[in-house]
Amino acid sequence: MRTVIHLLLFALLIVGVWQAKIYAEREFPEDLPWTPLVIEQPVGAATQTKITQLTGDKPRCLALFSESELSVVPRDDERVNETCAQVDSVSLEQMTAGYAPGTVRLACPLAAALAIWETNVVQPAAERTLGSAVARIDHLGTYSCRRMYGAAEGRWSKHATAEAIDIAGFRLEDGRRISLIEDWGADSDAGAFLEEIRTGACDIFGTLLGPDYNAAHRDHFHLEATGFGTCR
Ligand SMILES: [Zn+2]
Repeated sequence: MRTVIHLLLFALLIVGVWQAKIYAEREFPEDLPWTPLVIEQPVGAATQTKITQLTGDKPRCLALFSESELSVVPRDDERVNETCAQVDSVSLEQMTAGYAPGTVRLACPLAAALAIWETNVVQPAAERTLGSAVARIDHLGTYSCRRMYGAAEGRWSKHATAEAIDIAGFRLEDGRRISLIEDWGADSDAGAFLEEIRTGACDIFGTLLGPDYNAAHRDHFHLEATGFGTCR
């Protein structure tokens, strides 16, 4: 009899855990590492990990875009030399805003992180804080075959594999321009907007270096999909 009761309690426990799993997967998939990444889903505890896992898995990264209104065009990976290469290579095609300069070729996981940041952080913050959507994102480039800070020695930059992008500013649909060099730290709506999108980026990108980090980053956010959560 006792064994039967124990088995029954155990079965109830299993059913309970199973129900909790189904509930969690429906209510907050963004916090669960085993659920698929979706660009339009809210940002959660597992978002950054899932983006990082796209590294070296281009089919999975492309599949993410195939289920979104945003799109990228797959490009052939290219090795330039021993260190520099275009890896997981794609070009941005349809994002929530245009980019200037217009042709942006970069690693797919970084494109995914940008898509999630634009959708969940940048556009909502612009609408709420500035009353206008972002029409264009000004950037300073992705691929550049160089070491960090362009030094002759030391670690290679993630730009050497097009796994980093430098974002310098935003143009709104109403024509206003916001730049990191002019508006970072300002006691204004533009300053609040930049602060808010920086904070939001920290939950998405593995690495963010901006004006608070050092003078070399005074005019841009350096963003990488991967990293150890450095966000300064
Ligand atoms: Zn950079």
